[in-house]
Amino acid sequence: MSKKIQKILIANRGEIAMRVIRSARELGISTVAVYSEADKLSPHVRAADEAVCIGPPPSDQSYLDIDKIIDVCQRTEADAVHPGYGFLSENALFAEKCKEAGITFIGPDAKAISIMGDKLAAKSTVSQYDVPMVPGVDHAVSDVGEAKKIADKIGYPVLIKASAGGGGKGMRVVEQGDDLASQMERAMSEAQSSFGNPAVFVEKYVSSPKHIEVQIMGDQHGNIVYLFERDCSIQRRHQKVIEEAPSAILTEAQRKQIGEAAVNVAKSCSYFGAGTVEFIVDQDLNFYFLEMNTRLQVEHPVTEEITGLDLVKEQINIAEGNPLSFKQEDLKINGHSIEVRVYAEDPQNNFLPDIGKLQTYKAPLGPGVRLDDGFEQGMDIPIYYDPMIAKLITHGATRAEAIARMQRAIDEYQITGVKTTLPFCQYVFDHEVFLDGSYTTKFVEEHFSKAPTQEISSDIEQVAALSAFALSERVGNVASANTVTNQAVKSNWKKRAKY
Ligand code: ADP
Repeated sequence: MSKKIQKILIANRGEIAMRVIRSARELGISTVAVYSEADKLSPHVRAADEAVCIGPPPSDQSYLDIDKIIDVCQRTEADAVHPGYGFLSENALFAEKCKEAGITFIGPDAKAISIMGDKLAAKSTVSQYDVPMVPGVDHAVSDVGEAKKIADKIGYPVLIKASAGGGGKGMRVVEQGDDLASQMERAMSEAQSSFGNPAVFVEKYVSSPKHIEVQIMGDQHGNIVYLFERDCSIQRRHQKVIEEAPSAILTEAQRKQIGEAAVNVAKSCSYFGAGTVEFIVDQDLNFYFLEMNTRLQVEHPVTEEITGLDLVKEQINIAEGNPLSFKQEDLKINGHSIEVRVYAEDPQNNFLPDIGKLQTYKAPLGPGVRLDDGFEQGMDIPIYYDPMIAKLITHGATRAEAIARMQRAIDEYQITGVKTTLPFCQYVFDHEVFLDGSYTTKFVEEHFSKAPTQEISSDIEQVAALSAFALSERVGNVASANTVTNQAVKSNWKKRAKY
């Protein structure tokens, strides 16, 4: 039975709050913003129909306070909550409490969230379906002797992972048996302090893989489709910085195969809503299930650009109880899309956050450029939250056009006052292993960190200097004027790359 949503409270901040408000407004649905004292000047507070301050800056006293948020829903008569990503978006208790209070949670049910939120529970649920897994164990290990036996069996290097992990935390690569005990101890204590749960497991560490994920969408009537894949292999600290859709290296047959595997993962937990199934892909294009994220992803816009769908509107449609308005065979890929995450970070200093005031902030415009941001010139980047300023997205008829547009848009984008990931992104878009599609999750380690610092910094300084001035016209590809010499890259990916 379907029930029209009248008013959505967005339990989030920044660009994703703006993103949800925009789709809700187009659907004629009212919106309520919540904000902490650190965000009182944020655009999302002004953009919503109503806004309520929910507490001091630390997130456990504001954006993570379940009871406060449910209380604001009741006081403002919001009949639905959109959790965005991060914060409470993968909190099964929050989903459950919303349901108990008669508020529609725009996302899957609590059961699917709790299964997929635990990497071990997810592996065991998915193993009943025909989905390839990374070789390893599907149970928690706390005994070093047992871990050693497992590692010897699967072969080094291995990865020790926190079962409750997220955000790249609690992961340790072990190259040889002698290091296992010490690394396991560290992983367990990191898992305990970050997630309150010391459980870890051991799996094969896939060398130089790609991270390829599939967007899926399911309704409450059992229909599940895949909306193609995203390549999110450009990462630092196991966390994404650049994403593209579709992948430059999959064939049509492989696309279908990985898409269908993702649908099976979603079926294993009777999933509904928008979700993402993540895979690790080795050099021979074998893919292995990593985890499922039970929410909208930061990088969802690249999927929107190539499918023409508005994923937030689809989420709302599903939450209202309506069937999906399309079938698998209706979905087609149109062109190519790239996203860069603009973080207030210093790429030259291990990507450490660089907090401060946005002294200049001028957004790029023009054909095929989309900017999802949550800041304005003069605002401070608060220290309390993730330092992402914006997501810059381009779309082109071809991959080459999407890349050229991205380079042009980054040239136009003017940010001063904080260091950002933009010069790093220019470096990537000028690099042969990105251009030929052969890049892997090791890009930063193998290319960016190893490139002669002087040459990178002269690239970066030039990009930063150019970005600081008003660029009224195309100035050419800054990075290519100063190409960094790189070692030849030998990889199977190259053979398969399509521009
Ligand atoms: P989290 O939930 O902390 O983000 P994930 O399991 O999604 O952790 O993994 C994050 C990243 O870590 C992946 O995108 C990949 O770069 C790397 N990774 C995870 N598992 C493996 C593995 N078995 N082999 C190699 N790299 C891995």
